Amino acid sequence: MAERVKIPRVKMPEQNPQERGKNFSEVALGYTEEQAVTEATRCLQCKKPFCKDGCPVEIDIPEFIAFIKEKKFIDAINKIKEKNSLPAVCGRVCPQEIQCEKLCVTGKKGEPVAIGRLERFAADYERLQGKIKTPKKPKSTGKKIAVIGAGPAGLSVAGDLAKMGHSMTIFEALHKAGGVLVYGIPEFRLPKAIVESEVDYVKKLGVEIKTSAVIGKLFTIDELFEQGYNAVFIGTGAGLPVFMGIPGENLNGVYSANEFLTRANLMKAYF
Ligand SMILES: Cc1cc2nc3c(=O)[nH]c(=O)nc-3n(C[C@H](O)[C@H](O)[C@H](O)COP(=O)(O)OP(=O)(O)OC[C@H]3O[C@@H](n4cnc5c(N)ncnc54)[C@H](O)[C@@H]3O)c2cc1C
Ligand code: SF4
Repeated sequence: MAERVKIPRVKMPEQNPQERGKNFSEVALGYTEEQAVTEATRCLQCKKPFCKDGCPVEIDIPEFIAFIKEKKFIDAINKIKEKNSLPAVCGRVCPQEIQCEKLCVTGKKGEPVAIGRLERFAADYERLQGKIKTPKKPKSTGKKIAVIGAGPAGLSVAGDLAKMGHSMTIFEALHKAGGVLVYGIPEFRLPKAIVESEVDYVKKLGVEIKTSAVIGKLFTIDELFEQGYNAVFIGTGAGLPVFMGIPGENLNGVYSANEFLTRANLMKAYF
């Protein structure tokens, strides 16, 4: 154990700054297999894993890290996916430093285990090997549930409930699923292809996604119930801007942050 504690946290490989200034591709490149195994070795496999208390979806963190240490990378991702349908997204953009990693015991005297980077590694390994599998189809409960909004909240709810056997339909206002993951977070931090792959996984769990479907205009919530939905989850996010009430804010060329990001990201201004 004393030896393990001395291993420094493995740095995330990044694009060379000279190159990075000339493209919009992802800056962080992800761990290699060797780097992931080294970082996994730093985990003390605590009997009481505080890291798990910091994870909003309660991933069994020590267990998936132990699989990585043993090079059982597919077992690692399967363990993560028991609780999280968007691991490649969360491994990249979850604020681990204030969640799981904040509570990791190795952080008390040194640097915490890089839990997020390991989650990303496992998810990327599965995708790059073309080994993405879906769990066995559950027995149908006969219940129909509508989800409004295909952001991370709607996608997660729909994925989890589909795994429980409910019939799930997401109604998304925009022409693309993903919410802020596609129209807000820039390509260099979260590539659209990663989001698309995780949206595909949610669809493979049996979730139907209807895009360009604005609830409130296409159907009201009452109408959804009349159509036979047993429950409705509203996951519409917080996309409405709050203006400051200052002169000139309605002039042409003045955008809210959200409108600017939607134009830049969904209209491919990042190319
Ligand atoms: C620029 C930016 C960077 C960020 N970076 C990070 C980060 O690095 N890490 C992090 O953890 N968080 C980050 N966040 C915050 C994170 O993206 C949000 O917390 C998260 O997206 C909220 O998820 P959501 O599903 O609730 O809502 P959203 O992602 O907003 O999704 C809501 C969806 O509902 C749809 N919708 C709305 N109204 C209707 C309707 N009437 N009918 C049908 N569909 C509708 C919308 O089109 C949208 O697709 C960032 C946010 C921004 C803006
Ligand atoms: S708290 Fe840190 S060292 Fe302990 S099990 Fe969790 S990740 Fe491993």
